[in-house]
Amino acid sequence: MEEVSVKAYAKINLTLDITGRREDGYHLLRSIMQQISVFDTVELKKADKISLELIADGGSGCSHEVVPADGRNIAWKAAELILKEAGISSGVEIILHKNIPAAAGLAGGSTDAAAVLKGINKLYGLGYDADKLCALGVRLGADVPFCIKGGTAMAEGIGDKLGILPAPDKAEILLFKLPMEVSTKEVYQAYDALEVTQREDKSGRLEELLKNGSAGPAAVASCLMNVLAEVTEVQHPVIKDIRTDMLEQGAVGALMSGSGPSVFGIFTDGNKAQEALENMKKSYPDAFGTVCSFVNGGEE
Ligand code: ATP
Repeated sequence: MEEVSVKAYAKINLTLDITGRREDGYHLLRSIMQQISVFDTVELKKADKISLELIADGGSGCSHEVVPADGRNIAWKAAELILKEAGISSGVEIILHKNIPAAAGLAGGSTDAAAVLKGINKLYGLGYDADKLCALGVRLGADVPFCIKGGTAMAEGIGDKLGILPAPDKAEILLFKLPMEVSTKEVYQAYDALEVTQREDKSGRLEELLKNGSAGPAAVASCLMNVLAEVTEVQHPVIKDIRTDMLEQGAVGALMSGSGPSVFGIFTDGNKAQEALENMKKSYPDAFGTVCSFVNGGEE
C-alpha cells in the first residue's frame, strides 16, 4: 500500500464533569464523548521523510497562524512517534485538509493525531491493534485514545479510560463556533477557584440510557451537562446567548463542548436545525456553523 486517506472526526462532550485532580495537576474527568460528522481528511503517502501540507479553506477559521504546518503539528508528532516505535527510518507525506475549527473544544488536533496513527498502521502494515495505538496516542494527548476508538464512550481518568457505548438515536446536531479565543488553561484555572458543589451524575444516567437503547434526542438532551460551561459562560456571556438562541429556535437541548467556545444544539428536525443555522449566521456572519449528525464507532 502506497497511500491511504483517513477521516478524522470531531468530538463533542454530551456530559463533562470533573471528579478530581491528579498530583501532576491533570484534571480527572467523567465525560460522555461523542463523535460527530464534521471531519478533517488526512492523506498519507509513503515518503523518505516526514512532511506536512495544511489545506484549510473550508471556512473553519483554521489558518496557518493557529495551526502550525511543521513539527509542532500534533499530526507530525504522531507520525514521528509511530514510525520510531516501529523502527521505520523512512517517513510519510501528510496532507491535512482542515475543516474542524481549531482550539474549539472539538478535539481537532487529537483526532488528526489519531488518524495519522491509524493511517500509518495501515500504510506500513504494522498490525497494531486499537489498544496498542491508544497506548501510543495517550502520549500525544488525553483525547487521542477516544479519537482512535471513536463513536460514543464514557471517558474517565484524564479522558483516556474508555468504556465504549452504543450510539444515541439519530438526531440533527447544529454546531456553532464564534471566531473567538478561549484559553483552556484559564477555563480550568477559573473552575479550580470555584467551590465544588454536589451535582447529579448525569454521565451515569446517560450511560444507562445508551446501554438500554433508550437514548433518543429528548432523553440525551435531559442529560446534557458541562461543568466548564459554568465558568466559560461567565467569562464569555455570548456563549450563553448562542445556547439560548438554539433553544429558542427549537433545539431540545444545547451545550458548550469541552472548554469551548463551540456550542452544539440537538434538534429532531433537520429543517429546523438548518433554519436556526441560517438565522444565527445573520447575527454572527463570521462564525463557523454546520448541521451534522452523530457518528457510530468504526465508521470510516
Ligand atoms: P480538545 O477538545 O482536545 O481540548 P481543542 O479542539 O480545544 O482540543 P485543538 O483544535 O486540538 O483544540 O487545538 C489546540 C491547539 O493545538 C491549537 O491552538 C493549535 O495551535 C495546536 N495544534 C497542533 N496541531 C494541530 C492540529 N493538527 N489541528 C489543530 N490544532 C493543532
